[in-house]
Amino acid sequence: MVKELVCVACPIGCMMSVEMNRKKEVVSVTGNTCKRGEQYAKDECTNPVRMLTTTIKVNGGSLPVVPVKTSVPIPKGKMFECMAEINNQVVDAPIKTGEVLICNICDTGADIVATNEV
Ligand code: SF4
Repeated sequence: MVKELVCVACPIGCMMSVEMNRKKEVVSVTGNTCKRGEQYAKDECTNPVRMLTTTIKVNGGSLPVVPVKTSVPIPKGKMFECMAEINNQVVDAPIKTGEVLICNICDTGADIVATNEV
């Protein structure tokens, strides 16, 4: 199986082809201009990860929600589970920028961190 994807590791955006075997292992990467692209392609095809940015409801603050993000990228397949946990949370003001509001969300190893103060 061959998968086509665009490298987003830098603004050049090389078009890459990733050949995978039946065990879904990467056999070859072509079209990349550098090693970063090869690594991006391997990660994207075997364990894609994303930063999650959203908001959490705030109790007693000047704003009804606080913007948050994961401290590190999380597996793409865990996005909905993490969003469900975040949507069930209400945090109390005051909240400082950088404050950890949820530790190790859904056992991903990532914390949910406030990106602004409320
Ligand atoms: S392969 Fe290298 S040069 Fe091409 S987009 Fe990715 S990081 Fe940039």
